[in-house]
Amino acid sequence: MKDISSLLNPVAKALPMSGIRTFFGIAASRKDCISLGVGEPDFPTPPAFCKAGIDSVREGRTGYTANAGLKELREAISSYTSDFIGVDYDPESEILVTVGASEGLDIAIRAICSAGDEVLVPEPCFVCYSPLVALAGGTPVPIPCRMEDGFKVTPEELEKYITPRTKALILAYPNNPTGGIMEKSDLEAIAPIIKEKNLIVISDEIYAELSYDGVEFCSVASLEGMRERTIIVSGFSKYFAMTGWRLGYVCAPKCVYDVIFKIHQYAIMCAPTVAQYVALEALTSSAKDNFSTLRNMRDIYDERRRFLMKRFDEIGLPCFPPKGAFYAFPCVEKLGMTGEEFAYGLLDSKNVAVVPGNAFGAHSEHFIRISYASSLDALTRAMDLMDSYITALPSRN
Ligand code: PLP
Repeated sequence: MKDISSLLNPVAKALPMSGIRTFFGIAASRKDCISLGVGEPDFPTPPAFCKAGIDSVREGRTGYTANAGLKELREAISSYTSDFIGVDYDPESEILVTVGASEGLDIAIRAICSAGDEVLVPEPCFVCYSPLVALAGGTPVPIPCRMEDGFKVTPEELEKYITPRTKALILAYPNNPTGGIMEKSDLEAIAPIIKEKNLIVISDEIYAELSYDGVEFCSVASLEGMRERTIIVSGFSKYFAMTGWRLGYVCAPKCVYDVIFKIHQYAIMCAPTVAQYVALEALTSSAKDNFSTLRNMRDIYDERRRFLMKRFDEIGLPCFPPKGAFYAFPCVEKLGMTGEEFAYGLLDSKNVAVVPGNAFGAHSEHFIRISYASSLDALTRAMDLMDSYITALPSRN
C-alpha cells in the first residue's frame, strides 16, 4: 500500500497535541484520581434549560435553523449583550450563533488571517489560539505576560511585538489559565495603540460573567472607537454550564461579520438546533429565575476561589489572586521544579491531577493550573494531599 502520510497538511501534522488533553489522558486512566484539570463547570445544565431542549425534540423542531442561528436567539443575544456590556449589535447582520466559542474563534481567525500575517497571542492563554492561527496560514506571535503585571497586556509589551505584518490581537480576559482580568483602565491604556496600528481585536469573552471581588467586566468593544475593530467571541459553555451543548456566538461589525458568516455557512451550516432552544430558554422565558441560578453557581465558584487562596497562603505557594474564570495558577518555582515535574510528581504520589503551566505557553513552565470547577470537598482533599506532597519533597527536607 502506498504511504499517504506525505499527503497530509504539514502544518496540521506538526501541531502539538493539546497539553491539557495529553495530561488528562494519563489522569483519566487512573482509578480514584482527583482531577482538578478540566475547564468545565461541575454543575449540570440547569433543568429548565434542558427542558426547552427536550421540548424542542418532542415537538419535532429538529431540522436546520437559519445559517446564522434562530432569529429569536440572535435577538436574545443582542439584548443580553446590550445589557451586559453596553454595546449594541444588530441581530440580523452582526450576530452569528456558532458551535461553541471554539468555532467562533476558528472562523474569526480564518476571516482575518492569510499567509504571512501575524497575530498577537498574549500568553499564558487557552490552548487553541496559536494552532488556529497557524492552520490559517498565519504566524502566532506570543506576548509573554507576567504575574507581576497581573498577566495583563501592557502598552509597552504590546508595542514591542507589533510589526508591519501584525493584523490582530487576541484578548482573553477573564483569563484561562491565570484568572487575570483586564479592567477598563487597562484596556484604555492599549486601545490607542490598537487604533493607531490599525489592528483587529478578537476578544474571547467566554468567562465574562465570572468575575469576583467586585471587579467589573469591561468589553474592549465598549471603548470609544473599538466596536468597529473588535470581534467578540463568547458562548454558553461556562457561565451557563452548557459545555456539551456546544453553543457559542460571535458579535462583529457588519463588514467583518459578512466574511465570518460565509466561512460558517460553508463549514458548519448552522449550530445544533436543540442546543439553540436551550440557549434561548437560558436567556429569555424565565430569565429572572435563570439568572439567579447562574449567579448562585458563580457565588459557589467564588467561595472555592477564596478557599484555594487561603490554602495556598497556608502552604506557602505563591499564587496570583485570580479575579475571574474558575482557575488558580500557582507558581512552583520556589520548590525548584517545573510545573510539569510538579504535576507528574503529584499525580504519581498522590493521585491528584493538575495541568502543567507549559500547556498554556512556553513562559509559564513554572506554573500549574488548578480548576476550581470542582466540589469544595474534592478541593479540600486535593489541597491536603498537595500539602503533604510538598512537605515531603527533597527540596523541603
Ligand atoms: N475560550 C476559552 C478561554 C476557553 O477556556 C474555552 C474552553 O475551555 C473556550 C474558549 C472554548 O469554549 P466552547 O466550549 O464554547 O467551545
